[in-house]
Amino acid sequence: VATRTPLIAGNWKMNLDHLQAIAFVQKLAWALDDAKHNEADAEVAVFPPFTDLRSVQTLIAADKLKIAFGAQDVSTQESGAYTGEISAAFLAKLDAQYVIIGHSERRTLHNEGDDVVAAKTAAALKHNLVPVICVGETAEDLEKHGPSAVPVAQLEEALASVSADSDIVVAYEPVWAIGSGKAATPEQAEQVCAALRESLRARLGDAIADRTRILYGGSVKAANIAGFMREPNVDGALVGGASLDVDEFAGIVRFRQ
Ligand code: PEP
Repeated sequence: VATRTPLIAGNWKMNLDHLQAIAFVQKLAWALDDAKHNEADAEVAVFPPFTDLRSVQTLIAADKLKIAFGAQDVSTQESGAYTGEISAAFLAKLDAQYVIIGHSERRTLHNEGDDVVAAKTAAALKHNLVPVICVGETAEDLEKHGPSAVPVAQLEEALASVSADSDIVVAYEPVWAIGSGKAATPEQAEQVCAALRESLRARLGDAIADRTRILYGGSVKAANIAGFMREPNVDGALVGGASLDVDEFAGIVRFRQ
């Protein structure tokens, strides 16, 4: 079985302008350095708003910071008359490594269905961006269909665009746990993450199932990260609110301590 480097990913959502982003990344680099953070223990990635990406890229490149970055969304389209959209080609040109796709806020507030998620996943992979494919059930889904059915079905739709040699990340984010302060239990997260990995295995084979990082997201904090990380199928976290506080986020990265 492949060893997977944990990924701690901070989704800033619509927070921090480009000046705040620069200050934040500098402080984060300092905090990780101070903690003698070892990249092999966990990879750290931030997902700033589009308008911050150039500033973040420049800072990371200039100081060779061990912080990866990505965008929070991407267009399904390559280029052309799509006012307001940002293409995967633009993100790749900016050295972004990752892009979040199908976050529950995009699914609910912007009506993004599984077809759009699959098309965005294809666009990202075409430009060698690693899609962070978000799946998760609402409280109502959980009551009606049980824990794994909806997230697994969402993943299977997205996998239409993925091949056995693709580099992807999956984020299991129960909608009822996002921003609610009510995180899933580690056991709940493990149950769904294991089902997602088995779905990857059944569709695309052992190699991708064993190497793909599956993250848990939903009210993760420094105080509860260790429990999730002890689970064999949880390979990191996608963090919203707690990613906006440098000390809290650095505390999540240092989940082993
Ligand atoms: C998210 O929106 O991806 C998320 C996990 O948010 P929070 O950590 O604030 O629950």
